Amino acid sequence: MSVPFGNRDVAEDEKKRLVRGVFDSVAHRYDLMNDLMSGGVHRFWKDAMVDWLNPRPGQRFVDVAGGTGDIAFRIARGVQKHGGAAGIVCCDINREMLGEGIRRGGEAPEIAIRWAGGDAEALPFKASSFDAYTIAFGIRNVTHIDRALREAYRVLAPGGRFLCLEFSRVETPGLDALYDAYSSSILPRLGRLVAGDSDSYRYLAESIRRFPAQKAFARLIGQAGFGQVRVRNLAGGIAALHSAWKT
Ligand code: SAM
Repeated sequence: MSVPFGNRDVAEDEKKRLVRGVFDSVAHRYDLMNDLMSGGVHRFWKDAMVDWLNPRPGQRFVDVAGGTGDIAFRIARGVQKHGGAAGIVCCDINREMLGEGIRRGGEAPEIAIRWAGGDAEALPFKASSFDAYTIAFGIRNVTHIDRALREAYRVLAPGGRFLCLEFSRVETPGLDALYDAYSSSILPRLGRLVAGDSDSYRYLAESIRRFPAQKAFARLIGQAGFGQVRVRNLAGGIAALHSAWKT
């Protein structure tokens, strides 16, 4: 069976290898590129995600496709504001990305994060291990979205929270054409200039275009067993937050 990889279809088992290649290639410049590509806006979106999560001391968190730890660090700081600690695991399939996160963690020794290698479609955790599962700009990259969602459901304890931040479908008239032009022409050029890799950033634009829109993704979350699925658009739908609960 074939699956989408950017604007082409590839064999199922090839996609994982190709996605790994993308993030191997960009890991060393990943954080800088995020700031340049989004004009720093990704930081506000990630803050909005963790605000909605409202992390509390004593909870157990897993951030999947966590990359260099942007969400995990925010959760840790959110918990610290309430004067306590929490268990936070940052899990990613790519060791280069985790390596960058571990290096960043070394600069913030007050923050305790456990870094784990693992595939979102077959997580290395027991059922009901976490109170909250987060995934930011990650689920678009997995081969089978439905398997990743079922894994999220499995590793969450009953009453656990699912929260996903992902690029979505622009719902503001006028903004869609502008955004399309930006992502298909400026983004790959920026990728070539800064990370020396335009193909990976072309993949990024194309994978965004093929990812299900807000309502379709909400339906997939419901099909994985979750209830109370809610959506919040960010920047007119350039990105969206999907929240749900394991009942
Ligand atoms: N969550 C981080 C953030 O928001 O900055 C990183 C997002 S980055 C765009 C996507 C991440 O997904 C990469 O670190 C990549 O290695 C990871 N990834 C891709 N496929 C994965 C999979 N099947 N399982 C776990 N992680 C995966």
